[in-house]
Amino acid sequence: MENFKYKRILLKISGEALGSTDDLYSNEKIDKICQQIKTLINSKVQVALVVGGGNIWRGAKEGQKVGLDRTNADYMGMLATVMNALVLESKFRALGLNVIVQSALEVNKVAEPYYYKKAISRLEKGYVVILAGGTGYPYFTTDTTAALRAAEIKADVILMAKNGVDGVYDQDPQVNKNAVRFSSLDYQDITSKNLKVMDLTASTMSMEADLEIVVFDINTPDNIIKAAQGTAISTTISSKKNINSKE
Ligand code: UDP
Repeated sequence: MENFKYKRILLKISGEALGSTDDLYSNEKIDKICQQIKTLINSKVQVALVVGGGNIWRGAKEGQKVGLDRTNADYMGMLATVMNALVLESKFRALGLNVIVQSALEVNKVAEPYYYKKAISRLEKGYVVILAGGTGYPYFTTDTTAALRAAEIKADVILMAKNGVDGVYDQDPQVNKNAVRFSSLDYQDITSKNLKVMDLTASTMSMEADLEIVVFDINTPDNIIKAAQGTAISTTISSKKNINSKE
């Protein structure tokens, strides 16, 4: 397949994208994601993957319910991302792809420690590089991890996959049918309009590192491929004012 807009992408998938309402993991959903990534790799697009853990455990939220302290609860969230990374690793292997899991949290039996130079060299060799364990620190999210890693590995773009929402809207589209999607935004708009795209730390870091982010719906068929081609229905966030165009 031709015409990819980006050469090196960082794909952020939340844990939810891997599961269903009934199951922790949905074979069908995971297969679709992995097949699309295979298409990208076969087309010489470099793919780094940051995976969340929300299908298993969200530190602050779930921890509070059971009366855990935040730090332990967050480390549990990071461990959840490692579990998801191992699921994806197995699937990529089964598809015949070269794959490596690097983790910011030390789990040396199952993943290499995160080392950005090695991540880059594996990307250049056509490996799918799965970045697990979040930042390795509590009080952060995997959206922030995506921003940090995208800056470190010099990704051309963060493809920020959402579940069932195809971009950033002026109002919550699930609440208000008249909500309008932005086709592009700059970082100032995110704060001035109080738009809920990602947490504040993640958007500040993305702005500081001058990253381009494409927010798209992972549940639409072939949308990871389309996002990498620049043709998915989506919202592009960058610091270059284009801008503020609603669709
Ligand atoms: N987490 C953390 N530090 C990080 C990344 C993640 O403590 O650098 C924890 C945090 O508790 C978070 C959980 O891991 O709630 C799962 O990550 P996230 O909520 O970002 O997953 P997603 O919603 O994308 O599936």
